[in-house]
Amino acid sequence: MFEIINCHSKLSLATNDFTLILMGMNDAGLKSVIWQSKVSFLAAAGITTFNKRILDWIGYYNIKRETSFIYRADIFVEGQEIIYIVNESAGNSDPYRRIEIGVISENKDTAKQILIKYVNHFKDSLKLKIDGRRVRHMDLAWYKANENDLVDTHVSYYRSFSYPSISETDSQAATQLNDPEARAILRKISEQDLSKNLDIKGEHKETVLKTIEKLISWDLVIPKILIFCRKNAAAIAVIQSRDEITGSNAVGVRCPHCGRKFSEELIKESYMISDLGKKMTRGSHWMTILITNTLIASGIPKKNIIWNLTEDSEEVDCVVQFKDQVWIFELKDRNFESGDAHPLTYRAVKFKASKIIVFTTGKVTKDARNVFKDMSRNSRIDGLYGIPTYIEGILPLKAAIDTMVKNETIMHVSKKAKEISLLAGMDFSPIFSHILGDYSVDIENGRKENVNIFR
Ligand SMILES: [Zn+2]
Repeated sequence: MFEIINCHSKLSLATNDFTLILMGMNDAGLKSVIWQSKVSFLAAAGITTFNKRILDWIGYYNIKRETSFIYRADIFVEGQEIIYIVNESAGNSDPYRRIEIGVISENKDTAKQILIKYVNHFKDSLKLKIDGRRVRHMDLAWYKANENDLVDTHVSYYRSFSYPSISETDSQAATQLNDPEARAILRKISEQDLSKNLDIKGEHKETVLKTIEKLISWDLVIPKILIFCRKNAAAIAVIQSRDEITGSNAVGVRCPHCGRKFSEELIKESYMISDLGKKMTRGSHWMTILITNTLIASGIPKKNIIWNLTEDSEEVDCVVQFKDQVWIFELKDRNFESGDAHPLTYRAVKFKASKIIVFTTGKVTKDARNVFKDMSRNSRIDGLYGIPTYIEGILPLKAAIDTMVKNETIMHVSKKAKEISLLAGMDFSPIFSHILGDYSVDIENGRKENVNIFR
């Protein structure tokens, strides 16, 4: 997967200085495409020496009294890596990132090495080409970009959230609850009144008992033995094992109703949900764990995932901050109904989500889908989230998350590619497509093949 590794400097450079620095880098053997095209352009007319007037023309030129070109960006290609240097004009840009140098690459380690090489070349060229008296007053420090600058600022504003905390036991329990049968029986056990016996009969008795055995072995359920009074059928005790009332360890207490020994009363086996089981089922926490583990397996760094983002009694179980986008997940261990759609949209607006993902163990009903369709048609909030991504069932979960991560990463590179082209006043998309390949991006209404996402 392609990544952008970049850094920036507060340096404020006029276009003619930028031109000189790029000239120096090209003279040192690095070939940037705009510089080299200008060199070829001039050479075709027999111009091979660059005086001040020629350098000014490379920096910018006007046609019909309008600025037609300003040299603000250039790219280099080395093997499968694209290196860019942009100089945002001082007036329009963030004062902290006026010069940005970046590498777009599939290999992070290679990219880091190349980035260091280009930053050093840039610094060397600057010192060589620009008057030392001016250079002395320049801030030549470079800053590494945080991958999530925008959203970190945004999300930490809410304050109330937690980072994922998943023990090995939690992970195992959540994985075991992937089994719908196990979940159904666990739910039944947790809803049982302990004074009644768990009603297990009929043709499925065997499988139910097997599932309960599994739940016990996973520590989600604890076996209990209930003792009922033979006289009035009242529950008189709950014990862990029969040893407590028979044999040498037996406690010598008797029934308060009829005076019988406990071992002579009616004994029934039953079950209760364990603390781990309660933790997993409360708010369908097992789904939060499952989705978090899947996100990490698909390449989302753990530090980019947060839980329980809360404000004014609105809560989102799981939020991802990735490539300066915010995804919010809605998790339902049942069908997602139309009544769930409005509150979810409200939360999406509140937390400025760029994407909503509905993950349900059941289905997203047709009515719910229609609510989202209507809202996205009538919404005046532009480009906020559109129609959610629906993930129905656990089986398609990993593939769906993989696709989302891949798309977001590609769109991030695509956005950067367009920014560089815009700054350069030159469409670099043939070079991006040539090096990075063609991409299809999944959209809701079907699949778009081989879109030129760099243009
Ligand atoms: Zn009794």
